[in-house]
Amino acid sequence: MKKIAIIGATGSIGTQTLDVIRQHPEAFEVVGLTAQSRVKELASFVEEFKPAKVAVGSKEKAKELQTLISTSTTIVYGEEGLMEVAVDSGADIVLMAIIGSAGILPTIEALQAGKDVAIANKETLVAAGEIVIDVARRSKGELIAVDSEHSAIFQALSGQSLEDVSRLIVTASGGAFRDKTREEMAHLTAIDALKHPNWAMGDKITIDSATLMNKGFEVMEAHWLFDISYDKIDVLVHKESYIHSIVEYHDGSMMAQLGAPDMRVAIQYALHHPRRLKSDFKRLDWTNIATMHFEQPDFTRFPCLRYCYEAGRAGGTMPAVLNASNEVANARFREGKIGFLDIEKVIYETMAQHTISSSPSLEEILAVDEEARRIAEGMVKASQG
Ligand code: NAD
Ligand code: MG
Repeated sequence: MKKIAIIGATGSIGTQTLDVIRQHPEAFEVVGLTAQSRVKELASFVEEFKPAKVAVGSKEKAKELQTLISTSTTIVYGEEGLMEVAVDSGADIVLMAIIGSAGILPTIEALQAGKDVAIANKETLVAAGEIVIDVARRSKGELIAVDSEHSAIFQALSGQSLEDVSRLIVTASGGAFRDKTREEMAHLTAIDALKHPNWAMGDKITIDSATLMNKGFEVMEAHWLFDISYDKIDVLVHKESYIHSIVEYHDGSMMAQLGAPDMRVAIQYALHHPRRLKSDFKRLDWTNIATMHFEQPDFTRFPCLRYCYEAGRAGGTMPAVLNASNEVANARFREGKIGFLDIEKVIYETMAQHTISSSPSLEEILAVDEEARRIAEGMVKASQG
């Protein structure tokens, strides 16, 4: 029986994790949950799973939650509360499913407390990959991939040696604007971008998919998780999302993991690997799949993908600037304050203003994150005229 804490339980990944756990009560027990603001939803999860500890965003939310539950669950709140659930709810595995660089500190603390961390929160690896990987290496806790591409690579690497890998091929659906011209993109709104062709995900990542920032982040995530240089990580657009990623070996062999696009498969593997649990998730029927499409990503139409390779190769504090400016631009686009093509502009200009510091400390990363947000907000204001 594995004890699980879910940080960000009310989100897309959080609720899909609860669904996996719901189907396997013999294998998993929920000991901790957190949510920022959706208290009613969290209350229903508390009633169902009876965790020892839960955290919400504020004291007011904590009071509200107290009135909605009948279990003896301890309620904590704020950033400290979230941290308490991550390190002190009795979990074996902490599933990190919050958004953005807010995941950096809880991920580090959970690893340092000896927990295994199943990491969906890719922004943490983008912004602070070097530090997080270093902490993971020195701690008892293991860092486990949840993102479908990285789960695929992790599975395709199983039983193999990293020394024999010649290339990682990270597949991409291409996002909601895969076939749009730059002229069309200029007029597209958040409502258009939120219609993802294959995956139902949270709003932030769905916009990141439309800019291909998500794919660039995944390249950076792969770099850190699998210790592979950027020159050996390629992106391949495969619009059906059946092949979740591919590992190419020195002898020319390729190993891939395939399946219907369903995050629960990757989540379940992260929580139970190396063994596999039975599931009734949809299966691919090969006889019904007439064709699969593959193409090169277009770095000109989607410059955010290029920025990720550039920031990743530059290293130091630059990836934190990339991530923070994207968090701002993505949010302001969703609010309708800037246009789709302004997202890349805000990021480019914020990165252009930054002087890289190499091998930064955690404090430096957090300071750079804050500063980049301030600069990006300034760019947003300027672009609004
Ligand atoms: P979401 O918006 O659906 O859910 C986010 C969850 O985190 C919610 O429970 C929310 O209450 C909480 N949260 C958000 N910001 C917070 C903060 N600052 N402090 C504390 N709690 C906070 O997001 P999601 O789509 O589930 O994505 C979560 C993470 O997983 C992201 O990093 C995303 O890139 C990654 N991811 C998501 C998918 C997917 O299919 N949704 C796939 C791969 C990776
Ligand atoms: Mg992914």
